[in-house]
Amino acid sequence: MTETFIQFAYLVAAFLFITALRALGHPDSARRGMHSAALGMLVAIIATLFEARIITYEWIALGAVAGAVVGYPLGMWVPMTAMPQRIAFSHAFGALAATLVGVAEYLHSYGEAGLSAAQMTALGFEVLLGALTVTGSIMAFAKLQGLLPGRPVTFRFQNMLNLVALVFVVILLMALIYDPYRVDLFFVIVCVSAAIGISLILPIGGADMPVVVSLLNSYAGLAAVATGFAINNNILIIVGALDGASGFILSIAMSRAMNRSFSNVLFGAFGSSSVVATGTESEGGEMAQVSAEDAALRLAFAGKVVVVPGYGLAVAQAQHQARELGDLIEKRGGEVRYAIHPVAGRMPGHMNVLLAEAGVPYDKLIEMDEINERFHETDVAVVVGANDVVNPAAGSNPASPIYGMPILNVSDSRSVIVLKRGTGRGFSGVENDLFFHSKTTMLFGDAKQSLIDLAVEVKGA
Ligand code: NDP
Repeated sequence: MTETFIQFAYLVAAFLFITALRALGHPDSARRGMHSAALGMLVAIIATLFEARIITYEWIALGAVAGAVVGYPLGMWVPMTAMPQRIAFSHAFGALAATLVGVAEYLHSYGEAGLSAAQMTALGFEVLLGALTVTGSIMAFAKLQGLLPGRPVTFRFQNMLNLVALVFVVILLMALIYDPYRVDLFFVIVCVSAAIGISLILPIGGADMPVVVSLLNSYAGLAAVATGFAINNNILIIVGALDGASGFILSIAMSRAMNRSFSNVLFGAFGSSSVVATGTESEGGEMAQVSAEDAALRLAFAGKVVVVPGYGLAVAQAQHQARELGDLIEKRGGEVRYAIHPVAGRMPGHMNVLLAEAGVPYDKLIEMDEINERFHETDVAVVVGANDVVNPAAGSNPASPIYGMPILNVSDSRSVIVLKRGTGRGFSGVENDLFFHSKTTMLFGDAKQSLIDLAVEVKGA
């Protein structure tokens, strides 16, 4: 009876997770999706608490309190700009849980219950993927947080070494399936997998991080599937599969947006071609500066304006000011749209989330392919703290490290105003010729302050 209740609750939870994933596909319904996922998780946890295998609740209560103490500040206080490293950090926790369950289950079964080949296979994959994801996620966190250099750290034969190490753990795993009582082999698998996680992420440069984070998400999901098989838990298998598949699909979408070939991503050969931090230098010339007053005049009398937000807008927390400026221009009869590049900012969908939070209607958030067709009829493109995602070198300079990355073609507009603090480069470290273009004028300063100044001037124009 209890078992039927648990399985039924798991089915309900699985349904909630699937509807959540669907709702997360659009900014309009994303909040509802998150609520649905949280409810699904609550249902799954409550159902699991009825498990007959639970001997005592003390440790579970302790874990719940510790999780809440760590999780609440992570959810409430980490700023939006730090979300990617927070996600990488969460993956490390999830994968650590899977690895520890794997180790505990192995030691338990090894001592008492005995291990079938199927169980051993599941446990082996669980600790392999789990340990690899723990260290890989910690490395991604450290790189995104600036604790480790963002540039690729490479050495000779690195990819070959990773491949050999991977083949080595798979061979050890096969030996362990043949003889599950080789505890030494089991722990060698854990250690070598952890080392592979480090070595896989080290050579990856900053510009490829979104692919890495979503790929680690996929690995964490696969580790959860293996955990589900190992401890015979259906909801872990379902959720892990959803996580693994969605992370995988997102990795493919991201690698397209970053112009990484997916096989390259899978085999860890990042860093060699497209992520070197020293890019092509500008061919010379000077950036033309503009005052807020002059820039505002252009905006106030423009028919069509496209705001192009980037990471700098997120850093300056200037989303509300961007919307206010947009509203003011529209009040004067102009049309304002917001151009969304898939990897603008530091995580997939970063700009949608920020602008939606500031109350920009969804129909004014225009995706890259569509807005690129509209730039040639745009009077003024206002680039707010964006750099790599508007760098024409990605489309025109085969020698550029970001060559091939799809960009927003702002230089098709009649004129471009760029809001940034100074002459700093973007995330990839590549110089941006757009800033030297004859159509472009630069308004230097913190994005929030510049947008406030522009709004004041547009009001008075
Ligand atoms: P970039 O990081 O390329 O450029 C941001 C620009 O903002 C900088 O040139 C900086 O110039 C400016 N800036 C920084 N702070 C401020 C501020 N307070 N006010 C005004 N300007 C500011 O951002 P993009 O959004 O164009 O590109 C995103 C990059 O991040 C891509 O390379 C992408 O691959 C990468 N990435 C994306 C992820 C994703 O999933 N979205 C995840 C990880 C990386 P200055 O210093 O002169 O002010």
